[in-house]
Amino acid sequence: MLVVTPASAADHLVRNQSEYLKAARGLQPGDTIILANGNWRDFRILLEGTGTADRPIRLVAQTKGKVIISGASDLRLSGAHLVVSGLVFREGHAPGKELISFRRDSKSYARDSRLTEVVIDGFNKPDRRDEDIWVALYGSDNRVDHSYFANKGTAGVTLAVIRPRGQPQENRHRIDSNHFGPRPPLGANGGETIRIGTSEESLSDSKTVIENNLFDNCDGEVEIISIKSGGNIVRGNTILQSQGSIVLRHGNGNLVERNVILGKGKAHTGGIRVINRDQVVRGNYIEGTRGTSFLSAIAVMNGVPNSAINRYHQVANARIERNSFIDVARLTFGAGADAERTAPPVSSSFANNLIASDKSVIEVGADIGGIAMSGNVSTGPVPATLAGVERRSVTLTRAANGLLYPQGLEVGAPRDLRVLSAAEVGPSWYGRDSAVPGFGAGKTTLVSAGQLQGAVAASASGDILQLAAGVHRVSEPLVIRHPLTIAGQRDTTIRFTTPTLFQLEEGGSIRIEGLSLSGVDAPRAAGNALIRTAPVSTIANYAVELSRVSIDGMNGSPDFDVVATTAGTMGDHISIEDSSFSNVSGKVVAAATETGMKGTYGAERIAIANSIFRNVASIADVLRGGTDESTFGPSFALIGSEIAGGGSPILALSGVQDIRIEKNRFTRTGEVRIDHSVGAPLVRIEGNQFLATPAPKLAKLYPQGSPQVVMKDNVMGEAQ
Ligand code: CA
Repeated sequence: MLVVTPASAADHLVRNQSEYLKAARGLQPGDTIILANGNWRDFRILLEGTGTADRPIRLVAQTKGKVIISGASDLRLSGAHLVVSGLVFREGHAPGKELISFRRDSKSYARDSRLTEVVIDGFNKPDRRDEDIWVALYGSDNRVDHSYFANKGTAGVTLAVIRPRGQPQENRHRIDSNHFGPRPPLGANGGETIRIGTSEESLSDSKTVIENNLFDNCDGEVEIISIKSGGNIVRGNTILQSQGSIVLRHGNGNLVERNVILGKGKAHTGGIRVINRDQVVRGNYIEGTRGTSFLSAIAVMNGVPNSAINRYHQVANARIERNSFIDVARLTFGAGADAERTAPPVSSSFANNLIASDKSVIEVGADIGGIAMSGNVSTGPVPATLAGVERRSVTLTRAANGLLYPQGLEVGAPRDLRVLSAAEVGPSWYGRDSAVPGFGAGKTTLVSAGQLQGAVAASASGDILQLAAGVHRVSEPLVIRHPLTIAGQRDTTIRFTTPTLFQLEEGGSIRIEGLSLSGVDAPRAAGNALIRTAPVSTIANYAVELSRVSIDGMNGSPDFDVVATTAGTMGDHISIEDSSFSNVSGKVVAAATETGMKGTYGAERIAIANSIFRNVASIADVLRGGTDESTFGPSFALIGSEIAGGGSPILALSGVQDIRIEKNRFTRTGEVRIDHSVGAPLVRIEGNQFLATPAPKLAKLYPQGSPQVVMKDNVMGEAQ
């Protein structure tokens, strides 16, 4: 009686899994299975049958959004003309490698089928390194539309078109009108939002269309959309504040047009990266992106001569026309040129584009005589070697569509582009504000001595615990499961007798401000830590912030770390400011737990400013192993700090992609050691004093790659 669909012989309302199994047997064209509202736990769904275009076989929710699939669940489609709609996957994870798969097994696929108005929200395996694909498209002529996919925290592509050998190579799938919601940085390869194909089959056409989707804070890795096949169209999408690019990684003859990419000044926001033959990039609008190098607003890459299928084919016959690049950080021609990538673009054109920036944003990394430039206008400086880019002043006005256009000049992107809003994509019935409360969003509680442990246990997300003056003694680890601020005033000290003071677990982040912490009572055993990330892998990226903190007495036993990170966890940031550290036998930031060479590093951003380190064995030990080029980070900054005494190396940074060491004074301390392993790391060592301290030691662990090092205005000398 709760059925809202008109009753007919072909409608099967099912209330449990055994009823589903019964109903799902021998489905005929026009049949509909209706899942009753409620929570379906540990439900492994197989929808199999052959419908027709007029009479598809449907699997629907009794009420859209009221059918929750949770626990160890997944969905497989096999046959033809199947439609799934209205389901929400939440509070669970796929038991296998694919959550929603358009195949039953390696022999039985789905074609002409559709996934519409489906939600997958945070349906993550317990270990972030355990890879799965949320939507795996096999077969041909399938459509995924008006769905919402958000908060994937584990390795693996959100939505992939998979093209196994022997299956139809022309897939003709359509991925449209979806909302790809936030995906935090994964800190490893495999964080793509969409991937079409893989390199092995990339010389054949998939002819998949990715159209009118909204990508919103899709930060997983450097590729938001990774095209690894030919003949695809990426059209009319809006990409908002997302780290990464549309990457024409493998395959030829793809078309990228009429997309709007708005970086809004966020770090690592990218544009479109061009590799291979016959790519057309036209009519796109890119504004406010901050990516450089591979993440440039347009990056035309250098190729590898006679490239292996999985490396970089030379760019040939690329047509890049009528795009607008407004306030972008960089356009790069000949990107990635190095000892291996020596083949510059050929037979290509860059025409009638608009580049609006006060700064010099065009970088030429190789001989680009093979790119014919004509009719382009730049408001900023143009490299002298570039003909076909005219520098002139242009008045830009913001049109009704929210985008900037030049007055009285016909260059750049078309005037009828649209910026998609969340209301126009995804399922209208699902609440999509997924903002997590941060530090300070909750209530403030005053905590007297002796009450800290209870106050932490009773706290809620975003709360501030304001500690009274005096000594707070802690005898059990304080477990943190949400963002929490511990604040002190003058003469507030925490002393602790446990190996770990603050233990972060899933969802936990900590900010400590304005208090002293003493390690003198800690156990006399190696490996204590003031703050330790979770012992098992966590999905949510954590944050650690120390501000106006004074730390002392952490040298009664070896390897006493301030922040000890663990494998399988990922920090959004670790920031330290206006703090002092004395007598630490371990590392202030220990972020070198990776044992493989996959580039699975521990924290995206580590920033230390205006702090004092005295007799500290190591300020930071940061490792990102291997040569993979898929991630933005890690980045590291040490600014305006005073370092006296301490171990060697005082700072060890390996595989860190962005390093700033500026305006510090090192006195009688060990060396700063920087080992490069990835792509084109940026290093700026400027305005420091190295007194009775060795000069920084920089080394390349691998021959390829071209570090961009600025080392200037440093003073070497004796200590006073
Ligand atoms: Ca990748």
